[in-house]
Amino acid sequence: MSASNALLPLVDSFGRVHTNLRISVTDRCNIRCFYCMPAENVQFMNRRELLTFEEIERFVRVAVPLGLNQIRLTGGEPLVRKDLHVLVAKLAAIPEIIDIGLTTNGILLADQAKLLYEAGLRRINVSLDALDPKKFEEITRRTGYEKVLEGIVAAQEAGFSPVKVNAVAIRGLTEPELVPFGHFARKAGVEIRFIEFMPLDADNAWEREKVLFAHEIIETLSREIMPLVPVAGQNRNAPATEYVFEDGVGRIGFISSVSQPFCGSCDRFRITADGKLRNCLFSLDETDVKSLLRGEADDATIAQAIRDSIAAKKEGHEINTARFIQPLRPMHSIGG
Ligand code: SAM
Ligand code: SF4
Repeated sequence: MSASNALLPLVDSFGRVHTNLRISVTDRCNIRCFYCMPAENVQFMNRRELLTFEEIERFVRVAVPLGLNQIRLTGGEPLVRKDLHVLVAKLAAIPEIIDIGLTTNGILLADQAKLLYEAGLRRINVSLDALDPKKFEEITRRTGYEKVLEGIVAAQEAGFSPVKVNAVAIRGLTEPELVPFGHFARKAGVEIRFIEFMPLDADNAWEREKVLFAHEIIETLSREIMPLVPVAGQNRNAPATEYVFEDGVGRIGFISSVSQPFCGSCDRFRITADGKLRNCLFSLDETDVKSLLRGEADDATIAQAIRDSIAAKKEGHEINTARFIQPLRPMHSIGG
């Protein structure tokens, strides 16, 4: 790498600038959502394969001069990784990192919300696909519904504002949850974000017919509760499109990855828990950064590996075409 391009931003061949890193801290999880993991006998990564907090911090510090300034911690379930707040504190101490978020299933959140907030975490998304406990168990194949609700309250009490709730929308399964979620957004002061079901399940059972589309949810909520109106002044490049009920109470976001892909403005790259760099959720190729971190590679070599990965990024995910090939890793192993 020449000294002249050492500090250029991470721009791909479509002109997209990459500033946003998703870090998966584990592929393990305490539940088994059917759209993300197999039901049983999951082959988890050996713990020695997981990047240490020090390795993650070094990777981030190498990427910061290339323009990285936002991070989201994910997994698997990130709160099953011991002492996650220690990693948060390490990352929060890097001045250029202006935003650290976490996506969690919330089951262990009541115990950790305060610690995480004190460590510097400010944004939290709790995944909850159903407000009916039986439906929750059908989807997650585990118990824990009450714990998730306790986790949401604990996060609010710890100071996270707003807490966002991610709900995967699945046709034939979660339609009865839409209206309760609309009321929940209005009463509990959380923002609900409906996510279109994507082909990242372990069982390869995704079908386009199972995707409950954002426009259908907007119609249902507008009819059954009151009209939803788009929030003014939104960042048009953000993955979520935000709406609010017309009386101003209750915010609903939509991540329409299938019906309205946001690939054209994607600014994200990812590192898996076992240290593989991925330039897209749906990428079929990975760069082995762990070998570099554990070998003799200097920072410039790692920075060049990041540049090369971004340079090779494809234009979009192709879910809506016959060319689409589902990645071998299911969602829990990539990091959602
Ligand atoms: N365990 C944490 C959780 O569930 O929030 C973090 C990891 S999870 C993989 C991150 C997000 O991806 C969750 O909101 C989850 O609902 C979502 N997700 C997982 N599989 C998905 C799929 N096939 N389609 C759409 N969203 C999915
Ligand atoms: Fe676990 Fe999150 Fe995947 Fe559900 S979506 S199985 S909570 S990693």
